[in-house]
This record gives sequence, structure tokens and C-alpha cells, in this order.
Amino acid sequence: MARLVMKFGGTSVATVERIKNAARHVKREFDAGNQVAVVVSAMSGKTNELVAWAKEAAALHDPAEYDVVVASGEQVTSGLMAIVLQEMGLPARSWQGWQVPLYGSDAHGSARIEGVDGAGILAGFDRNREIAVCSGFQGINPRSHRIVTLGRGGSDTSAVALAAGLKADRCDIYTDVDGVYTTDPRVVPKARRMDKVSFEEMLEMASLGSKVLQVRSVEIAMVQRVPTYVRSSFDDPDNPNPGTLICDEDDIVEQQIVTGIAFSRDEAQITLRRVADKPGVAAAIFGPLADANINVDMIIQVVSDDQATTDITFTVPTADYERAKGLLESKHDSIAYQSLQGATDVVKISAIGVGMRSHAGVAARAFRALAEKGINIRAITTSEIKFSVLIDAAYTELAVRTLHSLYGLDAA
Ligand code: ADP
Ligand code: ASP
Ligand code: MG
Repeated sequence: MARLVMKFGGTSVATVERIKNAARHVKREFDAGNQVAVVVSAMSGKTNELVAWAKEAAALHDPAEYDVVVASGEQVTSGLMAIVLQEMGLPARSWQGWQVPLYGSDAHGSARIEGVDGAGILAGFDRNREIAVCSGFQGINPRSHRIVTLGRGGSDTSAVALAAGLKADRCDIYTDVDGVYTTDPRVVPKARRMDKVSFEEMLEMASLGSKVLQVRSVEIAMVQRVPTYVRSSFDDPDNPNPGTLICDEDDIVEQQIVTGIAFSRDEAQITLRRVADKPGVAAAIFGPLADANINVDMIIQVVSDDQATTDITFTVPTADYERAKGLLESKHDSIAYQSLQGATDVVKISAIGVGMRSHAGVAARAFRALAEKGINIRAITTSEIKFSVLIDAAYTELAVRTLHSLYGLDAA
């Protein structure tokens, strides 16, 4: 007997018919004698609709009330899933975030999990192996007692945190692909499914744009040592595949130099031209952005011909682009730059692999391959196990496919 958390994402619960299919996976695990907690997302498209309604009601709305609105999508699915399971003759009940309770910080819209109290769910397991159907994405702040949500894609994080809180043997993330691929299979048909991927690489892939798992869920799986699988809800419930295990680097026998390619359209470029080249200029630019909670990612500085001024290019999240531009324009005189240029039609392409620690020249090969395709690189960053390039968004697919082939990741 094992204790499992099974999470079903939006596409997997998009209709009542799909919920019935997901319930067959739950029944399989229950019939095998396991204790099961289920975490569900809102039905596909629901959260987008709720977000749009909140914006329509008021462009600048109270974030606490935003959470009340968007958390409702998961409540519907948890009730429907419990009804379907009961109809199949299984003991099941729904749990909202506040009932579990799953505690979250007061950062409405992107709360961090502070703890999960699994006592009520465990009592149900002991009583009659009751299946706990929990709403993902939502929790309660223990001080304000208000509903909070965990940021888009947050049900993954609910599931892993619940698995840690219940000391579950495994967390299965059921989605619309049968595992983690070397890159998004919707963009590269030749992408390969991996049997295993290390926590470190999955963390980088998720932070660099592979939205198959929310970043926080991977962090919790890594820190709390939760064996986590990504697998398909569209497999035959009676004959499923195990999917991809996220595990320790040491458990992977054949390590590639590059394991995956990620891309993100959520970044925008800002260039300040002819900034006076003197001590303190970087602080004058990036200090105010940091104070405004705007994360700066890539930075490059180029000295101009005149040797007295410099051009500084950097990226910010697309969502913060207008705010960042406004802020810098308001500081035009104190920073002393000639002009500000911006671009949102850019994409950040990244290659990830723990093998980069011990191999030189991995990024250089990519620069050459992209140049041969006529793709101009606007900015570069590198770190221990990844490098990223910023390019025109129009070249996204070509660049991802080029790097995917370059590093030998294409399926045979
Ligand atoms: P869910 O609704 O189940 O949470 P998501 O849409 O959030 O599902 O995540 C699954 C999607 O992630 C896939 O359909 C796929 O297009 C995308 N994806 C991006 N990168 C990868 C990758 N490296 N491996 C697998 N899927 C990926
Ligand atoms: N329903 C939420 C979203 O669409 C959370 C999730 O599905 O993980 O972002
Ligand atoms: Mg998701």
C-alpha cells in the first residue's frame, strides 16, 4: 500500500466526460489498495475567463478580491470530481484550500505556501480510505483568513506541497503530454520524452519557460524530496505509462551535455542609448527598478565610439515593461541618457544541461549555428548549467529547432 497524490491539470478535466476519465485513473490506484489524495485544476480556459472578468470589473482591482474570483474555478472541479467518484462507488469528498488547510502568504495572486495541515485528510484515510479531492491553486492566509491563490499554473505546487505535507510516497502530475520532453513537443515534433530528468535541470527548464510544471512545484519537490512524475491522463487508465520521473542527478545514468531547450516570450528588451559612462550609472538605472520590484534578467553594456557614453541593454518581464519604461523616462535627467528604445517582439531561448559544468564551448556552438541561419543575437547570459540568448520572436521556432538538432536531441 502506498500513499499518493494525483494531480489533474485543466485539459484533463476540461469536460465532465474528461473528469470521468481522470476518475478511472483514481479508481485504479484506489483499487490497488492505495491511499489517494487528488488535486484538481479549473476546467481548461476557466481561469483565463475569470481573470478577464476581474479585469473587466475594474482594471485596477483589489488583489484579495481577484483571488476570491479566480479560486472559484477549482472549487467547481473538485465538487464535480467528488460526485463522479461517488457515482463510481468510491468514498470521496472535496476539500477547498481553506478546509485542508493549505496556508499561503498574503501576496495575493502569487502567494507562497507556508504550510499544509494534512490531519483532516489523514483522518479520512484512516476512517474508510476516503479519497480527498482538493482544489489546487488556492489556500488561506492564516493571519487575514482570506483566500489566496498561488500564481498561474499553481495547482502543480499545491499537489507537490500536499504530497510533502501528507508524507506521500509519490506525486503524479497528470497532464496532456506523457512526460517531460527535451523541448515543448508542440513546437518541435521531434522532441523526445525523457524517462528521468534531474531536479536542477527541471528547475531551470521551468524557470526559463517550460510551463509543463510551475517553478515552485519543482523547488518543493527538490527540497522536500518528493518523488514526482509527469504523466498523461489520456493513457488507457487500465494500462498507463509511468511518465517522466524528476529525480536526483546521481540517479541518471546516461547524462547528455544539453538535456533540454526552453523558450520564453515573457521578456521584453529595453535599451538606453548614450548613457554617461561614469561610476554609479548602473546603480542609478537598476536601483529604481529593483525598488519597484521589477526583475531585471539579461544585461549588456557596450561602450560607444566616443568612449564617454555607453549603451545599456537589459530585459524585464513583459508584464512590467510599461511600468519599467515609465519609471526610466521619469528619471531621464538624473540617469542622463540620450534615448530609450524598447521591444516586446523578442524571445529568450535557453539550453539547459548539467553537463555544461564540465564541457567548454557549449554555448559557442549555438552562437555559430544561429548565425548560420541568419539569426541575430540581441543579448546573452550564461550560468553554470544553462545559457540563454535573446532574439527576434519571429525566429522562435527556427532557433529552438536549430539548437535541438545541434545538441543531438532530435528523436530518431
Ligand atoms: P496542465 O493544464 O495539465 O497543467 P500545462 O498546459 O500547464 O498543463 O502543461 C502542459 C503543456 O506544457 C504541454 O501541453 C506542452 O505543450 C507544454 N510544454 C512546454 N515545455 C514542455 C516540455 N519540455 N515537455 C513537455 N511539455 C512541455
Ligand atoms: N487554474 C490555474 C491556472 O490556470 C492553476 C492551474 O491550472 O495550475 O493557472
Ligand atoms: Mg499547468
